[in-house]
Amino acid sequence: MVIPVLALAMETALGAASDPARDPAQQNPPSSQPSSPQPSILDRLNSMIYGGKSAWSPAQIATMERLRDAALVDPYALNQLRHLTDNIGPRLSGSPQAQQAVNYVASEMRSLGAEVTLEKASVPHWVRGIETAELIAWPGQTTGTTQKVVLTALGGSVSTPREGITADVVVVKNWQQLHALPAGAVTGKILLFNHAFDKQLALQGGGLEAYGGGVVYRGAGPIAAAASGAIAVLVRSVGGADFRLPHTGMTQYSPGVPKIPAAALTAEDAEMISNLASQGPVKLHLVLTPETLPNADSYNVIADWKGTEHPEQIVIVSGHLDSWDLGTGAVDDGAGIAVSMQAVHLMKDLGIHPRRTIRFVAWMSEEQGSEGAAAYMAEHKADFANHVGAIESDLGADHPSGIFYSGKRELGQWLRPVAQTLESIGAATLTSAGATGEDIDGLTKNGVPSFAPIQDSRFYFNYHHTAADTFDKIDPRHLNENAAIMTVLAYALADSPDPAPR
Ligand SMILES: [Zn+2]
Repeated sequence: MVIPVLALAMETALGAASDPARDPAQQNPPSSQPSSPQPSILDRLNSMIYGGKSAWSPAQIATMERLRDAALVDPYALNQLRHLTDNIGPRLSGSPQAQQAVNYVASEMRSLGAEVTLEKASVPHWVRGIETAELIAWPGQTTGTTQKVVLTALGGSVSTPREGITADVVVVKNWQQLHALPAGAVTGKILLFNHAFDKQLALQGGGLEAYGGGVVYRGAGPIAAAASGAIAVLVRSVGGADFRLPHTGMTQYSPGVPKIPAAALTAEDAEMISNLASQGPVKLHLVLTPETLPNADSYNVIADWKGTEHPEQIVIVSGHLDSWDLGTGAVDDGAGIAVSMQAVHLMKDLGIHPRRTIRFVAWMSEEQGSEGAAAYMAEHKADFANHVGAIESDLGADHPSGIFYSGKRELGQWLRPVAQTLESIGAATLTSAGATGEDIDGLTKNGVPSFAPIQDSRFYFNYHHTAADTFDKIDPRHLNENAAIMTVLAYALADSPDPAPR
């Protein structure tokens, strides 16, 4: 997943504090709900404390429990994820594998009996080239040697000349240090932003906040560096991995500011260069040869499991189908696709036909600018009132502790009976959030209640956007817990007598 990089980055570059993408402040405990005609004293007590009455009948609650239990044991999501990652592989926007993934998912959804449409979107087509770098001069260098460093081009980066560039490296930790440099200090040099990912914050459950603190340098680094006269920019990888892995991700240029080559350096190499540069001049040779080809036509895959009473009313269950190219896009975001596919698969398997339409969406090009989501928002603008809910899973596949919701405050209370059915898998918390997913953000902003599983984010950013984002990182039990949330929540939103409060 990405955060809306440029807005956040520019805000931070201008000196304002960056807002975390989510607001975890509203933590509500789950409650038991009256579910029998003769409420117990405990039920009545809960009713007095929490108010209201379940929007769902005991029969509907029982259906949620059946869906939950099926999701926990059914291998469908895991098998689909294995095919997407091992067989199809990386799914970079505009690539042949992304197109193959579109065809594959569409065909799988058709085979379940869903009504499938492909929604066209024009997407970036950026291709990674050669990416190498070595130190060629530094304090204490052994005569006649160079020292290799590990990096990867940032998405959208322009290339160096074929033979590369050679220049001194200037190291700063943050915007403040850059602004404090004397005029001309960076001119003609390579600028390194050595901003450390806050691993401790991630380990305390603040993975997204740790990511938000660093991603601003990845997003706006090239603009700030070029504006200071740098000829290339390196950004310390935004992630927690300790195995000298560079983390790619989209970067930004700005009209009127020169486009300079941009790469993510491993945390280890950023620390080494920072240490050497504190001792004296460090000279680096850098070769990056990515290419930006003309935009490609690609597609969101939309698959409708038609509602029986209100087929025009829609609940979206979704993930993004594209990935970065270094790994095979397992945690980001093949998992989101697989658990969303499972929601439709289990409706078919258990013969469940809710009142409203459950719409599976495999978003295209989330990583490179959310062009698929933009196409959807443009195409369905007149129909937002009929979108009664939207769910996206794009924070990996580790254990989910509950549901993020965005919209009216009463959504939390309304959802309690649903959360209750997820208590047995430890997923019953309900947390109000400012945002729930990059692709459904346009719907959220237009008043559509939106949701996401609250995945454990402690380790997600170790693999995110790296070569290590591969199928083996998936814990089958945790993946199935996520599938249970997606399926139960999609059913609950699609079958409640009245739509979710908005
Ligand atoms: Zn993602």
